[in-house]
Amino acid sequence: MDPVAEIKARLDVADIIGEYLTMKPAGTGSFKALCPFHNEKTPSFYINRPRQSWHCFGCDKGGDLISFVQEIEGMDFPDTLAHLAQKAGVELPQYDPKASSEKKRLYEVNELASKFFRAFLLTSPSAETARAYVAKRGIDELTGDLWRIGYAPDSWNSLIDALIQKNVTEDEMLKAGLIQKNESGRVYDRFRNRIMFTIWDVHGNVIGFTGRILTDSKEEAKYVNTPETNVYKKSQVLYGLDKGKGDIKRENLAVIVEGNMDVVSSHQFGIANVVASSGTALTADQLNLIKRFTKNLAIAFDGDAAGKAATLRGLDLARQQDFNIRVISLPSEAGKDPDDAVRKDPELWRRAIKDAAPVIDWVYRNAFKGKDPSKPEGKKQIAAELVPELRRISNSVERDAWLKRLADDLGVSEESVRDLVKSAAPSTKFSPYYKGELEGVPEAKTQQKQAKTQEEDLDERLLALLYLKPELEALAQELLQEYYLPRSPDEDLLNFLAVYADREFQDQSLDALRRELEVVCTQYRKLRISKTRADLEREMRDAERIGDSAKIQELLTQFNQLM
Ligand SMILES: [Zn+2]
Repeated sequence: MDPVAEIKARLDVADIIGEYLTMKPAGTGSFKALCPFHNEKTPSFYINRPRQSWHCFGCDKGGDLISFVQEIEGMDFPDTLAHLAQKAGVELPQYDPKASSEKKRLYEVNELASKFFRAFLLTSPSAETARAYVAKRGIDELTGDLWRIGYAPDSWNSLIDALIQKNVTEDEMLKAGLIQKNESGRVYDRFRNRIMFTIWDVHGNVIGFTGRILTDSKEEAKYVNTPETNVYKKSQVLYGLDKGKGDIKRENLAVIVEGNMDVVSSHQFGIANVVASSGTALTADQLNLIKRFTKNLAIAFDGDAAGKAATLRGLDLARQQDFNIRVISLPSEAGKDPDDAVRKDPELWRRAIKDAAPVIDWVYRNAFKGKDPSKPEGKKQIAAELVPELRRISNSVERDAWLKRLADDLGVSEESVRDLVKSAAPSTKFSPYYKGELEGVPEAKTQQKQAKTQEEDLDERLLALLYLKPELEALAQELLQEYYLPRSPDEDLLNFLAVYADREFQDQSLDALRRELEVVCTQYRKLRISKTRADLEREMRDAERIGDSAKIQELLTQFNQLM
């Protein structure tokens, strides 16, 4: 177990907070207290023991026991950890100042190299071809600066010479992976005559590079990457995460693409929740990185990545960690990759992301690839691959529809497929009652937030009600109809919902909760309708201004339907 998990397992949030505050019971496993972080006379600070979390409804702060101690003691995270580790009798791994300063130095060296490549591209006469290439790829200057798109000259020692001028030693360059040593011990630049993409870690430290050849020559590798170093670990890198994390969190969705250019051009055209994995399969480390920002992924696979075992493994890993995954298919007119699509028309790429299909669609189509559904052996293989998938579907109507389709496509009876699904070992995976499209899920409540909108308020109330009584979901669906948005709360949100439900709905009868749900849903519907109406009115004004009478007619019809 890692030290953080061990500390959390050994200490109890209510015990710890009880050392600082006077708590009163507030329902099963819950307590309330006067909030230490803002001034109040009646308690709005709630502690939830089963979830080991706390939340204040007055100032909207919340978190776990570590964040509480951090906040109340005013300590930074490492100090808090050290303090709690001592309390819990957990040994922390020794902090090594030498290792840390070596890493820092590698960041600096990489940063210098990154600036060298960028400056060389912009100013050197010998970078003419490279500049033409970058221009042809449509990278504008702002984007080039932001992403430090550069050029490594066609030379064995340009970078070495430049870095020596900046007091970087050969040893440091070797450790950063920027240079190589030949058999006779002579060093030379690793990247030569290549367009350089700078790679940052999630915190914005330069950790390495990808160098791409300028021509599609067959003699040289298309890409050269920084080798594994103390700061560059391929399996832990997501290209663009340092710049995209804000948008990923805001939109509650990470779009995963293959190539660096896919990321750069998406960002250039304002689609900034896009990152690239280096390789086809998502690793556990990469998923851990993303998890801090969202649990929703939309993945654009390379044509030939589909069906590769590694790709499927990456997906499986993600699903085990309860990520919601959709798969993006680019329409044929969009070109061969997201870079093509976004340059043709950003709307094409935007729409493809929005229309991403649930992973089951993709897995289903994929299961038929390379197998013959007309032969018994092929039928068996396809069914064996899909049965576990069908078992994962929690909604029985949806599951049934897939079952029928599979029986149909295999030309076998529904019963035989049904039997297979039944006889497979029961899945233990909890499947959240929310699944699918996600929009407007309230953000994690660990930080102080601005005043909530009415929509956010209603959202939270609705989610908390359904958290408390999942059986009310059908009613919510019926009441909200087309405005019903399935959700999958992440860990932070679940913590929040637990304390929220405690505070608002503790000890209420199911009937009372049902009435509450009706009120919330009605308000929600009204709000959405008035929003849609406002949107339509705006569109109508625009259409009138340009005199588009067909559009006006169409909008009027929509408008009337809302009445
Ligand atoms: Zn407070």
